[in-house]
Amino acid sequence: LASEESRSTATPMMEQFIEIKANNPDSLLFYRMGDFYELFFQDAVEASRALGITLTKRGQHLGQDIPMCGVPVHAADDYLQKLIALGFRVAVCEQVEDPAEAKKRGGKSVVRRDVVRLVTPGTITEDKLLSPSETNYLMALARIRSGSDPAYALAWIDISTGIFRLAETAESRLLADILRVEPRELILPDTVFHDPELRPVFDVLGRVAVPQPAVLFDSATAEGRIGRYYGVKTLDGFGTFSRAELAAASAAISYVEKTQLAERPALGIPERESAASSLFIDPATRANLELAKTLSGARDGSLLRALDRTVTSGGARLLAERLMSPLTDPERINQRLDSIEVLLDQPSFAMDVRDALRRAPDMPRALSRLALGRGGPRDLGAIQAGLRAAVAISALLSGARLSAELSEAQAAVAALPASLLARLDSTLGEDLPLLKRDGGFLREGASSELDEMRALRDQSRRVIAGLQLQYCEETGIKSLKIKHNNVLGYFIEVTAGNAGAMTDTDAGRARFIHRQTMANAMRFTTTELAELETKIANAADRALAIELEAFEAMAREVVAEADAIKAAALALATLDVSAGLAVLAEEQNYARPLVDHSRMFSIDGGRHPVVEQALRRQAANPFVANGCDLSPPDGPEAGAIWLLTGPNMGGKSTFLRQNALIAIMAQMGSFVPANAAHIGIVDRLFSRVGASDDLARGRSTFMVEMVETAAILNQATDRSLVILDEIGRGTATFDGLSIAWAAVEHLHEVNRCRGLFATHFHELTVLSEKLGRLSNATMRVKEWDGDVIFLHEVGPGAADRSYGIQVARLAGLPASVVARARDVLAKLEDADRKNPASQLIDDLPLFQVAVRREEAARASVPSKVDEALRALNPDDMTPREALDALYALKKDL
Ligand code: ADP
Repeated sequence: LASEESRSTATPMMEQFIEIKANNPDSLLFYRMGDFYELFFQDAVEASRALGITLTKRGQHLGQDIPMCGVPVHAADDYLQKLIALGFRVAVCEQVEDPAEAKKRGGKSVVRRDVVRLVTPGTITEDKLLSPSETNYLMALARIRSGSDPAYALAWIDISTGIFRLAETAESRLLADILRVEPRELILPDTVFHDPELRPVFDVLGRVAVPQPAVLFDSATAEGRIGRYYGVKTLDGFGTFSRAELAAASAAISYVEKTQLAERPALGIPERESAASSLFIDPATRANLELAKTLSGARDGSLLRALDRTVTSGGARLLAERLMSPLTDPERINQRLDSIEVLLDQPSFAMDVRDALRRAPDMPRALSRLALGRGGPRDLGAIQAGLRAAVAISALLSGARLSAELSEAQAAVAALPASLLARLDSTLGEDLPLLKRDGGFLREGASSELDEMRALRDQSRRVIAGLQLQYCEETGIKSLKIKHNNVLGYFIEVTAGNAGAMTDTDAGRARFIHRQTMANAMRFTTTELAELETKIANAADRALAIELEAFEAMAREVVAEADAIKAAALALATLDVSAGLAVLAEEQNYARPLVDHSRMFSIDGGRHPVVEQALRRQAANPFVANGCDLSPPDGPEAGAIWLLTGPNMGGKSTFLRQNALIAIMAQMGSFVPANAAHIGIVDRLFSRVGASDDLARGRSTFMVEMVETAAILNQATDRSLVILDEIGRGTATFDGLSIAWAAVEHLHEVNRCRGLFATHFHELTVLSEKLGRLSNATMRVKEWDGDVIFLHEVGPGAADRSYGIQVARLAGLPASVVARARDVLAKLEDADRKNPASQLIDDLPLFQVAVRREEAARASVPSKVDEALRALNPDDMTPREALDALYALKKDL
């Protein structure tokens, strides 16, 4: 497209387009033409398809029609929103000179245009494009190769709020750490993007992952680049960072600069997060547990929706972040729980705080728009209202008993400069326009000159009304009107029939100057009117100039307090989250969990937070509470495992998930749906539940299951919580049983984690005889008249049968099939009784014993290579001898 040939044969406008497009190859180019943004070539094809707008053509290029589509400028935001949501990036190209200038240059000169902004999913600030209750992160991934193991780091920025965080990560947890933050856009060096080893990670992320030139991630220049952004010589004051972290942070900053062009968002100081400080939740678990969205992608039905009682968007965003990154430090968790508790103890205080918060608008997002020069009067209004709410809340806080966390919040709120609010109060008016260029947002008394100009304007309006009356009388035309439009300014209008009367007399001809003839009206002006017009226009221009000046001054004052405002906004969000969780705990009857460094997992009367609320909404039978105890039975270092059997539809999955969710809720610092809970910190949470739909990527359900199971068996530690649902289901019975058998043994003997293992292989229940920390539990059912009734109660012991046929009958399988299945089952059960798989327990040595035996066997018979190696003494060898020895070894292999 940008070849010399194509340029030389293009029209001047196309030539300009091609040049600008060549500089922005990975964005759709919105090219400004009058009242439209137009898109050409491939951009037009893609955009018209994505937006559902007509694809047309405009002129030819190299003998081919040029595809084109366009969107009107006034509606551009809506289209941008749609494109951004679909993961596109857009370069907005505006005219940057007055068309008159281009004409002056003469010839075929086109108006100069330039890209004034790159709109990408991770760098938007417009309210219309942002979802109020969701964070909008741009994330950068950097990799440093030194020695054998590469170091990875992530940096993520929400420019709409200024939050900036950093963390080290590793290849094995890359995807988990990325998904924890849920970035809208991930930039990474193209070399990493194309690394075949990492391909699966970026496949999952799809359009979110955007490769960038590797120089952007250069670690050598990173520190300088970050320092320049913050205007500091050294980063010592910010903390210590690894090279990979610096590279990621600097890439994120450079990308922000690149997309925002001249403007600089008010970013907070980068805060370092250590990977170990948050509960590791692997990607499959995160998806399966439906934390922030359901498997089908909906927000409704997720845990977040069920927990969210916040009243501000800042609170909603903070709650989501806490849920996505539960903590692993009991002290911090207990601080959060203390906040909920003091709010529960003082219900009227909590209610007052929530009422005051409802009036607090989104200060961080308004602040960031002001810092970017993209703000309007309503953003100042938002800061003003936020500061006012903060004053009210500060007063409430000083009269209440607070937790340590809330005292800290109180200090941040109290630290807001009172002078700023006073200044906004004395300057800003009431009904604020969206755009500053509309004027009219300064209050009366804010500027005496402005008041004077406004008086002049209002007075002139009265003068004009007087003039109209006077002209009516003079001419005797009752319908004469003085009107205004943008082309003519003020003018006198009479109907065509009356026009004659205007210029009948000499006096009339001298007085009324003809301006325009319309189909059925005639327009005139007078010298008086023209003079008034100039006066009014000057007054209006001057008034607007005064307002704009005042706007910039106020915006500067607000941005100067950015740090204090952001700290206070975070404090308000913290208060909102705590009060929201208190309301939830009260309303849903949740209990404060006891969280400590032990390996306990003891839940009394636990419930599933989402299912429980859904059942209540449907006024169905209430949720049946169930306890769970995975605490170490012998000594403190290894957790217990429950092997759960029971019929389909009995409530196994619900029980498994509810315990995982309770752990997450406790560690995010929330009360939990239980009568009581004691949870020793979980370091990693793994689950293998339900069949996640990976078929699109060409893996069978069984393969997915095995990949996920492998990840768990390889990574779970003795502090982890593992939830396994029905593994071994997608293959032949004996394969499946064997795999499930071995997996339980591995979890018990090697991982030594706390775990719940639901299975339909009843044969496994005999394992509890050999594995000391394994107990059997079952979902109780009642049989009644050949039917099953699910009690949804978990009790000790094993299910004696699976009731599959009864469930099939409930599902409406034809009676003949049900009857036939009963016969087949009776035969199979008879055969099994003669030679049951459960007798394996007597025939098989235990897993660990088997492994050790195998290892011992391998160790005891040294191979030829082993012996040859042992005989070598490297210190006595010349390089030549060493090389020969190496060849000899290779031959013996
Ligand atoms: P399974 O995994 O054993 O097939 P599920 O966990 O999918 O069973 O539960 C089946 C149905 O029973 C679900 O519709 C669920 O809402 C309901 N259910 C499960 N547990 C309970 C409970 N403790 N109280 C009330 N209803 C429950």
